Amino acid sequence: MYSIYDYAYNGLLYLNNVMRPRHKRLSQLMIYSTTLCQSKCKHCNIWQKRPVEHLSLEDIQRIMQSRCVTKRTTVGLEGGEFILHPQADEIMAWFQENHPNYTLLSNCLAPRRVIDAVRRYQPRHLYVSIDGGRETYQRMRGRDGYDRVIEVVEALKDEVPLSLMFCLSPWNTFDDMAYVIDVAKHYGIDIRIGIYGTMAFFDTTSELLTASDFVKQIPQSIHDTQENYDFVELYDEWRNGHLRLRCQGDHRIKAVAALSMFNTGRVRRNGYADSQLATVQERLAKAAEARQQWVETGQVVCPPKQAIPTEEQLKAMPFDLYREGIYYYGTSKYRHENDGASAPVQCMLDLMMWDATGRMALIDQPLLLMTGEISDSKYMTEEAMEKATGTARKEMYVVPGASHIKTYYVPEYVEQEPQRLVEFFKKYL
Ligand code: SF4
Repeated sequence: MYSIYDYAYNGLLYLNNVMRPRHKRLSQLMIYSTTLCQSKCKHCNIWQKRPVEHLSLEDIQRIMQSRCVTKRTTVGLEGGEFILHPQADEIMAWFQENHPNYTLLSNCLAPRRVIDAVRRYQPRHLYVSIDGGRETYQRMRGRDGYDRVIEVVEALKDEVPLSLMFCLSPWNTFDDMAYVIDVAKHYGIDIRIGIYGTMAFFDTTSELLTASDFVKQIPQSIHDTQENYDFVELYDEWRNGHLRLRCQGDHRIKAVAALSMFNTGRVRRNGYADSQLATVQERLAKAAEARQQWVETGQVVCPPKQAIPTEEQLKAMPFDLYREGIYYYGTSKYRHENDGASAPVQCMLDLMMWDATGRMALIDQPLLLMTGEISDSKYMTEEAMEKATGTARKEMYVVPGASHIKTYYVPEYVEQEPQRLVEFFKKYL
């Protein structure tokens, strides 16, 4: 389904987003525009939400004005069931006119409306949900919708790129997956395989899927489909918290480079420059308390928003990174209005228990890490280099005179970095 061009473009976008964090661009944007849905799914309780909420066309237009959205951003319209949105026609007409690179997702329980809307407003792609045969569909979705999905597929498969969306969940099986793969083959269309998740928006009630011998149960026919196997195979690893950075073991990545490394895990755990070692347990306890509050009441605890520090306070700060970061992220032209700089306290549980350098030894590809000469974050780059014991082809480039934040935007430093990257990749690719 993806072309070489898509992979190259997404790779460049990824590099841009890592190296220019204030200028991020989205390759995809899913807009959950309504909570209205006529299905009664077990794996998603959005249909029970009251009051029903919609994003208006104006809300959506505001989202589309974000600088992160470009004409290459693929926008997905979904819900709930998007087609039930009271402004569905207006929204699709707006997209057809202003951002034709958009897709539609549907459960197809209103087949005629879906068919008519696709013909009239020409989305780039249609994704339709189907989780097994007729009985499974009824059991998992509480509605007798199987034939309606097939009706939409038969009507539109030759008119618009169409994918079946299969969701593996605690209520269906790998046999259902094989069944839906056969349906896709029968109609000569694409299939996207997803796995049940517990995203808060969907008010799910069941825990994440578990299955013994998970990988062995994946049907062989998945290899006849595109881009699904890796995703399904990695699910178990992800659920068990073993998923690692792709470069740390994936030999398709031929060389690895990074700039001004910041080990979020170590900093959240130990404080910047290991300055908060004395309070690790206390902060873990606070995060656990916030999580418990969220589980019991649904209330998310966030730290209080910080005021922009005064000149005096800035001078008194012990680290350049924070002082310069306040200028760069808070007041410079690189500032973004959506930046809140405040994560829910409960997230500290995950962040403090993670470490970016945990599996550095698995990297056996050429490795280049760049850091500023006077950067007070240099200790994290040095730690990563030291732990990268699996590769002899490793180099650290120190940008003369630069601090961490200045490697992002000061021209005399920024100009050196791509030159160094080009030399490195030319040598190894
Ligand atoms: S999974 Fe889709 S069809 Fe089912 S309730 Fe949720 S939004 Fe509706």
